[in-house]
Amino acid sequence: MNFPKFARYSKVMSSVNRFFLKEKIISFPVDPFLVIKNNNWGLTTYSELTELHGVSISSIIDAFQSEDGYTIFDGTNYTIAYNDTIQNYGRIRFTLMHEIGHIYLNHLVEFQETILSRSQLTEKKYKVLENEVNSFARNVLAPAIIVNQLNLNSQKALIDHFHISYSAASVRLRALPQDFQNLLSPLIRFQKNQFEEFINKCKSSKKCTTCKHFFLNVGAVYCPICGDKNLLNIKGVDEMIYKAYFLDDASRAVICPRCQNESLNHEGNICGVCGTHIVNMCADTQRGNSGWSNISDSCGKLLDGNSRYCTNCGNESTFYQQDLLTDWEVEYEEKQNEVHYKEIEDGNTPANLNNRRFL
Ligand SMILES: [Zn+2]
Ligand SMILES: [Zn+2]
Ligand SMILES: [Zn+2]
Ligand SMILES: [Zn+2]
Repeated sequence: MNFPKFARYSKVMSSVNRFFLKEKIISFPVDPFLVIKNNNWGLTTYSELTELHGVSISSIIDAFQSEDGYTIFDGTNYTIAYNDTIQNYGRIRFTLMHEIGHIYLNHLVEFQETILSRSQLTEKKYKVLENEVNSFARNVLAPAIIVNQLNLNSQKALIDHFHISYSAASVRLRALPQDFQNLLSPLIRFQKNQFEEFINKCKSSKKCTTCKHFFLNVGAVYCPICGDKNLLNIKGVDEMIYKAYFLDDASRAVICPRCQNESLNHEGNICGVCGTHIVNMCADTQRGNSGWSNISDSCGKLLDGNSRYCTNCGNESTFYQQDLLTDWEVEYEEKQNEVHYKEIEDGNTPANLNNRRFL
């Protein structure tokens, strides 16, 4: 195949759509580790390679002329290696998607120059392929359509939605007009369709950046868990689900949260056995240094089974005041300790690095 003189951006865009379709991507952020696993490609880290070959990270970087990562094709399967000593998770995600781009665009198969090493490619040819896959990575991780539909116009909003690095977010914003130009209308239609549900969900939901609580409530001003006002329209992967009591439509506990009394009076607000207020709502009292005082500005809103605060006015909830719900930080800490980071499976670590193609 003749080497392209310029990056083939419309080809990149159709590969991006092929990727969404084949990998069944319908929400963000996209997980490159999962894509690699699903395709049975090998995955290895620079740290593993240093141990295996008894060399330093910098000699791996020198050998493959890449600080971030590379892909090797042995004629049958691909192995991606990435520099796991880089502390920026967003940058690692971009690197992996960049390498996946080389695979999706068939670079290692079509361009014989990539056999042996990148050093056999002229700098100019290398740049063409790199531009293609950087565009691929950018448009897979943070598609122009989503950025546009959700009106994301800051680096922070992009980082929160797509888990990319600050510099990738800056490029994303800058390249928006160019990427739209390269998206032919059938491709735009496809993406709008593919992500319709995700876009709608983002628009109608809130995520609290403080306690990571995710909930559906278009009008919420305050987070029901931590009472903060830092709410975003986001559907993310790091969201917390806080434990909740089961309540009926009138926010009344079905079983008493304190004494487990199951025969609660369906009209009353108080448990007949232990005296607990069994409706979770915006409280009309407030704790202070000198005990409880009544407040007049309670809005009386009925709340969810895990709400510590009123989503309208930020008052404490009746459940929280009765210590039926812990401080959110306690539950947050517990969950964090449970999280086990995905163990990266042993890739097909290349035993012999010669005679393989890599980019
Ligand atoms: Zn919160
Ligand atoms: Zn009770
Ligand atoms: Zn209220
Ligand atoms: Zn590359």
